Amino acid sequence: MTPIVPRQRVIPFGGWVAAGIVFLLAFFLLLLLVMSHEAPWPVRFIVPILIPLMLGGYTLLIGYVNGDARRRGMRYVMWTLLAIFLANGIGIILYFILRDPLLVHCTRCGAGVQPGHAFCPHCGVGVQPACQGCHRTIQPGWTHCAWCGNQL
Ligand SMILES: [Zn+2]
Ligand SMILES: [Zn+2]
Repeated sequence: MTPIVPRQRVIPFGGWVAAGIVFLLAFFLLLLLVMSHEAPWPVRFIVPILIPLMLGGYTLLIGYVNGDARRRGMRYVMWTLLAIFLANGIGIILYFILRDPLLVHCTRCGAGVQPGHAFCPHCGVGVQPACQGCHRTIQPGWTHCAWCGNQL
């Protein structure tokens, strides 16, 4: 099994492309709009830049939700759709409240391991300190295991 290297960039390439397309589309549409109307000059400059920037940023945020949910082992398709279709960014806000903790990466095989697990489910190597008696994760400073009472 090839080790899975933790990805540095969270937003997938498609997210950047989508944000670029959204920005350009909004920029040209708004440019046409302000040119065809007798808008005062600050509006002509601010509107075609500010609004496309906000829309592009929002698209990047959806891309972040997609990439971040994927690296946390969550249902990223569902979360991406929620981020897109729930109005006013509610899907994105919900995601940041409900997201799972980041996976720990196994030192031997590189597979993602849930933070509460003591052993890698792929190769069995210990990734966190565990109780000698019941093999569950223990925390530094414990004198007894909170799961089985074994003296540590
Ligand atoms: Zn492993
Ligand atoms: Zn124990």
